[in-house]
Order: sequence, then C-alpha cells, then structure tokens
Amino acid sequence: MSQRVVYLLGPEMLELRHVPVPEPGPGEILVRIEAATTCGTDVKVFRRGGHPRMLKVPTPFGHELAGVVAAVGVGVSRWKVGDRVVVGNSAPCHDCDYCHRGRENLCADLQYLNGAFAEMLLVPRRFVDRNTHRIPDGLASEIASLTEPLACVLHGLEACDLIRSSDVVVYGGGPIGLLFVGALRTAGHSVALADPNEGRLQVGRKLGADRSVLILRGGGQAREVRRHAHDPAGFDCAIDATGVSEVWSDAADSVRPGGLVNLFGGCAPGTSISLDTYRIHYSEITLKGVYHHRPRTMARALEMLAAAAFDARSLLTSERPLEELELALRSMIQKEALKVVIRPWH
Ligand SMILES: [Zn+2]
Ligand SMILES: [Zn+2]
Repeated sequence: MSQRVVYLLGPEMLELRHVPVPEPGPGEILVRIEAATTCGTDVKVFRRGGHPRMLKVPTPFGHELAGVVAAVGVGVSRWKVGDRVVVGNSAPCHDCDYCHRGRENLCADLQYLNGAFAEMLLVPRRFVDRNTHRIPDGLASEIASLTEPLACVLHGLEACDLIRSSDVVVYGGGPIGLLFVGALRTAGHSVALADPNEGRLQVGRKLGADRSVLILRGGGQAREVRRHAHDPAGFDCAIDATGVSEVWSDAADSVRPGGLVNLFGGCAPGTSISLDTYRIHYSEITLKGVYHHRPRTMARALEMLAAAAFDARSLLTSERPLEELELALRSMIQKEALKVVIRPWH
C-alpha cells in the first residue's frame, strides 16, 4: 500500500511523493489525516527550505492535524482503530531538569513530529504516550486541527500572569494574534487588536476585540496604539504576535508601569532590539519570551475548541486538497488566507 506525502526539498520547492504506508511498531499508531491546517511556521519553513530546530530537507512537514487512528502497534492499549485524535507536534522526555520543573516546552530532548501534509502519519511511541488527545464527539476535524496553535497561545497566556479584566493589546492580526484575541476574551479580558490590515481587524472584532487599531506596517506605532488603552499610561499587557523586531519595541512601549510585555512572535535569528532602560527599570516593566506549548496546554486548547468558546472557524479561509498545498501557502504569503484546511483525502 502506498500513500501520498508532500516533501519539502528546499526553499519554495515541494514534491508530492508516493511512499509506502508505514506499519506501526510497538507502542506506535498510524493516523489517517482528516484535516491539516496551514500555519505561519509552515510558510516560513516553505520559504526558507527548513527550520533550524525542527526540519532538515528533504522532509515531510506540516504540524497541525486531526485524524483517525488507522492501525495500532503492539502494546498500545489506550487507542484503537477508529478513535479520533489530535497529535501534538512535540513530545518531552520527562527526564530532564526542565521537564521536572514543568517546563516541557524547554525540554533538553524535545522531539518534534512533522508530516501533517500527507494521507497518513506514523506517530512514534513518545508522542502516543505523552501528546495524543482524544477529539470530543461533535468537534469537526478542521477545528480540532487548531489545537496546536491555540495551545501555543494558552501557554503564552499563562506566561502573562493576568489578573481578571486586564487591558491587553495584541500586535498582529494573523492566526496567532486572532487566537490570542479569542482566548483573552474567553478569559474575561478587554482586548485591543493592532494590525495594518482592515480585513484582519474585522475578524478580530468577531472574535471579541473591543477596540481595533489600524496601524502602519513596520513599527513606530506605540504612541498611537497607547491612545486606545483604558489608562492613558498604557496597557496592562502587550503581546507581540508578529515576530517583527520593530513591533517588539512597540509592544515594550505600549504598557503602563508594572506592565508585562509578551514577546511571542519569533524574529529571525540574530535579531536585536533596543530598549528604553530607564522605563524598564523605573516602571518595572516585565519582558517575557514565550515559545511553543506543553502537553497540558494541548489538552486545554482542545477542550476550549470543543466548548466553542469563540468562533475559531473564522480563522479558516478555505479548503484545498493535498496537491494544492503550494497554492495554499502562497495564498497565505499574499495575505489572502488566514489559514487553509488541507484535506488529504479529497
Ligand atoms: Zn502551527
Ligand atoms: Zn525533558
């Protein structure tokens, strides 16, 4: 039996290959992909031809998925054929200092799983044991596929340490910024969304942003954005969901004394920003870097999607079959699409 898998060969080079369907070994499961969603990271990986931490070409890729267990290896008792599952794209060792401290996203031996843009995915034992989750009945696969990005966002929210009804600004109305808006509203906070694209601000309002701020591209917008805060001194918390260094600086300049800046969007390696040290010191500004998710946040994200806490479907712009993955990624680069649902079996 063979299956179709999209391989990344280098910068902007994809190939649809026919490869044998793997047999699950002891402790492993084989998942038939029902829906895989495209993500900003996939676009980055597609353009750069790999990822320093996660991917060396030639390689299958894609990491947001929902599917059905198609076969189980010896010794798997928790899953059976037909179970609907979401598989996290990383699995911690549970043995290192970071894991012992509950910071599994920083695990010294964090393993990554890629290959959602395929008909089938073999899930290694560590992922089966530690980061595979049952999809609640009635939750559509394409929504369940959003578990991974929402898990990153929930992990990021925990890092914000917000008290109830905080005033938060989110920079960037891409899928991550929009998921932040939905999750912040669900937690009872008041949210301003800042983005240069009116269409994205509109989706943000649908997800619960009570203020939207149309900004210019490229930074230098903090003063204008701060005018929309409840307190003229600034927001309680500012979240960067752009990965643009100038916007990191804007986020740092958007909070009031005692505020927290969540630097969520990853910038290119080697990027630096300059900071007003006087303000950081005398106003006790907290700057926090945030990366990835933990198995527990995956579980919570899936629950939140099942509860339909916010309109996650508004992040899904279109659906395409596997052979149109490149068109899907290009539509994201053109900012025509927020996320595209890839349906390998259609
Ligand atoms: Zn993602
Ligand atoms: Zn570890």
